Amino acid sequence: MKLRPTRRALFFAAVAFLVLAGPLSVALWRLFPSLVTLLSSDTTKATGTSPEPIEPLEGPWIVALQPGHWRIEDLPDELSHRRGDTGAVYGDVREADINRAVAEALVPKLEAEGWRVVMVPATVPPDLRADVFLSIHADGSERPDRRGWKLSPPWRPSAAARSLTDSLRRSFSAEPGLVEDRDGVTIYMRGYFGFNYRRYLHAISPYTPASLIELGFVTNPQDRRLLTGDLDFWAGIVMRGLKDYFSDRKREYVEDLRPMDLRWVAAGPDGAILRRKPNETAEAVLSVDAGTVLIPVDRSGEWYEVFLRHYRRTVWVTENEVVVVSDRRPTAPRQPAANLRAAVELSLLHRHVLHDTPVRHVTKAGLMGYLPERRPSSNMAEMFSGETSGCRL
Ligand SMILES: [Zn+2]
Repeated sequence: MKLRPTRRALFFAAVAFLVLAGPLSVALWRLFPSLVTLLSSDTTKATGTSPEPIEPLEGPWIVALQPGHWRIEDLPDELSHRRGDTGAVYGDVREADINRAVAEALVPKLEAEGWRVVMVPATVPPDLRADVFLSIHADGSERPDRRGWKLSPPWRPSAAARSLTDSLRRSFSAEPGLVEDRDGVTIYMRGYFGFNYRRYLHAISPYTPASLIELGFVTNPQDRRLLTGDLDFWAGIVMRGLKDYFSDRKREYVEDLRPMDLRWVAAGPDGAILRRKPNETAEAVLSVDAGTVLIPVDRSGEWYEVFLRHYRRTVWVTENEVVVVSDRRPTAPRQPAANLRAAVELSLLHRHVLHDTPVRHVTKAGLMGYLPERRPSSNMAEMFSGETSGCRL
């Protein structure tokens, strides 16, 4: 394909940058020593050619249930900024109570199958291994018409985490009275702190298949009626999803537990179009210049799901429009002792590499679609009878 002069110049600049990345990192070292540490050593060590073996668990299936926001005030210092996140509220209806009640309704059903249940507070025991980890939540919105359930596996999910989420999705979808909150999954759900073993000590093991469930909206009348009604209704849905998941699981399938290994990519010589969904006809959210670094969090066929923090959502780009950037992978070392340092390094990396990368040609309509929910007009606010707040995920 013939390149226009400006594009060609940009492309060569991007290539030059990549070639010079090594020497440049030496120069950057004086300014950002921890950034360089991450680029030059830990990531390659953690993802070398011989990955560490995964020990299978033993005994009955272990299901770890986390009622969202339960004992959130006890979070350790590394998560002190989340201690006030007590969950969505609508008048007297508190998300935290619903989460707890649904989790407790699940316990006898799980035990009846002979499975082991572990109830986990907001503070996840470091490196928690289980056959399944479910974090149960309900949402809130300032728009009372917003309703529906949604599910999220962690970023860069293992095959097992994806399968778990798919099984749960089939079970929720089979309920005629429920709707899915399509496009409602936020980066905060995908990067939920309990899943985030790269950043926090108090997080699940990378080898624990996990899913975050938002049952519905306490701020929506229809959802609220169901959420404050029969608990067995919700426990039954989750239970059917788990049985479906375990029906074709075996403990020896340890490789399914390994998180997806994704390398960083950058927009190719013609730039790249970032779309809302992984197909060519999906809405284009924005386009980025050649060389713009994108951090993948998932893959679907020929499409990468990439992280764009400004938009609170992830977006999709086809592999035809990007090039793989070196061997860099966004997977930090998994040894708990290294996690905190890696977190600092990763956030530096985001700030200097991703956030300072110019993003151009943003259409107003596309941008608006990805802005956080706006506060309602005063008329809309009057529709509420009680104090409301959202589940900040
Ligand atoms: Zn919540």
